[in-house]
Amino acid sequence: MSSSSYEKELAAAKKAASLAARLCQTVQKALLKSDIQSKADKSPVTVADYGSQAIVSLVLKMELPSEKFSLVAEEDSADLQKDESQETLKRITDLVNDTFSSEGTYSISVSEEDVLAAIDSGKSDGGPHGRHWVLDPIDGTKGFVRGDQYAIALALLDEGRVVLGVLACPNLPFTSIANLDGHSSENQIGCLFSAQTGCGAYMQLLHEPSAAKISVCTTENPADASFFESYEAAHSLHDLSSAIAKKLGVQAPPVRIDSQAKYGALARGDGAIYLRFPHKGYREKIWDHAAGSIVVTEAGGIATDAAGNNLDFSKGRYLDLDTGIIVTNKKLMPSLLSAVQEAIREQTQSASHM
Ligand code: AMP
Ligand code: MG
Repeated sequence: MSSSSYEKELAAAKKAASLAARLCQTVQKALLKSDIQSKADKSPVTVADYGSQAIVSLVLKMELPSEKFSLVAEEDSADLQKDESQETLKRITDLVNDTFSSEGTYSISVSEEDVLAAIDSGKSDGGPHGRHWVLDPIDGTKGFVRGDQYAIALALLDEGRVVLGVLACPNLPFTSIANLDGHSSENQIGCLFSAQTGCGAYMQLLHEPSAAKISVCTTENPADASFFESYEAAHSLHDLSSAIAKKLGVQAPPVRIDSQAKYGALARGDGAIYLRFPHKGYREKIWDHAAGSIVVTEAGGIATDAAGNNLDFSKGRYLDLDTGIIVTNKKLMPSLLSAVQEAIREQTQSASHM
């Protein structure tokens, strides 16, 4: 039986994700300012992705020196080790050092080798035993490049269960998603969501100390429930979610935003439903859902696959699930699940008649 309190780990995770968010914010600002940067140029997001992963790995190891360290993360350093990547590696290392020195808590200076090693400590396969950190260094890279939503998503698995999660969402309005169109004042943008098993979910302004408890919207009436889905149609079937929403009686149009910011927004009651139906053959990675799902469940919601099964994070780097992921409050879940299954059945039948 593992210890049930993860206070120390949660504090470390919040520090790591906040510092990684600073690095990402620096890169995104520069990216959006530069007119010369072609949209096809992937290098800014590459630099931020690797830099974020290096920072999280370094901070967790500094904050929790006595713990055995295992990290399941999206990136590895293979491409960075190539000759043509020398300049990129130097940029990442400079950024990591600048971020550490601008924040002031850690007076360290890291070398290119330290950065490569930090990135490569993310090669763990996770699984049902022991503790594993799970990281998406930039979730929603498409949103990051567009200047929209993205998240740094960090969770801890203990014996196959998610026991804590942190989501840093640097571009999410603090008060409500309704302020996405730019009406909120600049200093009210950026959220840090956090949750520990059995202790509820919290939100604070990113880079500010005080957190407040959050909870999901408890409406039972689908007519009052708006729903979230991916901005990118390639990531989720928009026509299927629209059929489900119609069946359920949801009136509001979909709210399409990138990344696990959707889980955070739902956890604080901005909308009541999140629908995700990837195209056939896509396998969901654990780092795309671990942090988001505990933030939502600790805020009183539920996340399941399209068959109503709980998400199982114990199977390694991938989630092994049926068809899609649906998230809502406990009262709405039974009717949502029926609508989902009916819509999927109809879609399958009409496909077989084509
Ligand atoms: P979202 O912004 O919610 O669409 O989710 C972003 C995440 O979707 C990325 O971090 C990717 O890991 C993941 N992703 C990438 N390709 C696909 C795909 N074809 N279908 C579903 N998800 C994808
Ligand atoms: Mg991702």
